[in-house]
Amino acid sequence: MTSFPVEPFAIEPESAELNPQKRVMLLKPRGFCAGVVRAVDIVRIALETFGAPIYVRKEIVHNSFVVNELAEKGAIFVDDIDDVPEGMRVIYSAHGVSPAVRQRSKERGLKVIDATCPLVTKVHVEAVKFARQGYSLVLIGHRDHDEIEGTLGEAPDVTQVVSSAEEVASLQVPDPNRVAYLTQTTLSLDEARDIIQALKEKFPKIVGPHSQDICYATENRQVAVKNVAHTADLVLVVGSTNSSNSNRLVEVSRNLNTVAHLIDNSNAIQPSWLEGVSTVAVTAGASAPEILVSEVVAYLRGKGFGTVDEVEVMPENVRFGLPAEIVQAIGPAAVAAR
Ligand code: SF4
Repeated sequence: MTSFPVEPFAIEPESAELNPQKRVMLLKPRGFCAGVVRAVDIVRIALETFGAPIYVRKEIVHNSFVVNELAEKGAIFVDDIDDVPEGMRVIYSAHGVSPAVRQRSKERGLKVIDATCPLVTKVHVEAVKFARQGYSLVLIGHRDHDEIEGTLGEAPDVTQVVSSAEEVASLQVPDPNRVAYLTQTTLSLDEARDIIQALKEKFPKIVGPHSQDICYATENRQVAVKNVAHTADLVLVVGSTNSSNSNRLVEVSRNLNTVAHLIDNSNAIQPSWLEGVSTVAVTAGASAPEILVSEVVAYLRGKGFGTVDEVEVMPENVRFGLPAEIVQAIGPAAVAAR
C-alpha cells in the first residue's frame, strides 16, 4: 500500500543562529494512521483508474491540506449523497455512513467505493448486534461528528449520544438492566473512561464492546503526548480544527499543564508562542500528512531550534487492505505491487 506523498524531511541549512540548547522533539507515532492511508489511497487510485471526477461524500479525512490536494486532482467533495449526479461513482469517507445513506446511494444508482475505516465498521457491527439483542444503546461521542452520525444511523430508535459524564444523569431508558455502550473511535481516553464510569454507576449491568472502540492510532498518539508533554515547554499539534483526534491531543497536553496549540500548518504558529521556550514537542493528528510536520520543523529551525530529535514512544505497524471495489478494478497484482 502506498502512502500519501511525503516530502523529504526539510531541515534548513546550518546557520550560526542555531542554538543546540533549543530542542524540537518529534513524537512518534504521529500523523497518518492506517485508516487514513487507506482512505487517501482509495481516492488517489480511483482518480488514476476511473478518471476525474470522482465524488466523495464528506471530507475523506478531516484535514484541509489533504482535501484540497485531492480536489485539485479531480475529487469533488459533497455533503449530501443527493449532490452526486445519478449513476456516478462516489466514495464514502473514512468516518463511515449510516444505512440510510447506503440506501439512498442504491436508489440513485451510484457506484459506491467504501473507504470507511475498518475500525469504524467494527463499531457499526457492534451497534447492530446490541440493538438486535434488545439493548438500549449509549453512544459516547461528539454529536456533530461524521462518525457519530453514521454509527447513530445503525439503530437510531434505541441509541442516545452522550458527550460528557454530566449528561449521563439525564439518560432515560426503558430497561436499566439492558443497556450497552459504544464509543467514537477518536475520543480522549481519559474522558471516555470517566463517562463509562458514570454509566456504570447509573446502570450497573451495562455492557460494552469486547475490546475498546477508541482506536489504536488515537490511543498511541495520546500516550506519546502523555509520555513527553511534561518535558516540553510547548506542544504543537498539526491537524485541522475539525479533526477530533487532533483536538484530543491538545487537550491531553493541556490537562498535563503544558501549553499546546492546534495548527493547520506552520503559518499558524505565532512567534510569541516561542518566547522563553527551549523545548517544543511536535506531533500530528491521524489525518495530518508528514509534509506539514516537516514544514513546522523547518519553521522552528528558522527560529534557532538547533536540535531535532525523534522520540519514539512505541512502534506502530498497522496496515489495512484496500476494499474489494478497488482490488477488482486494478487487480490483485497491482495491489500487491503498491
Ligand atoms: S483514527 Fe482510528 S478509526 Fe479513524 S481512520 Fe484512523 S485508525 Fe481508523
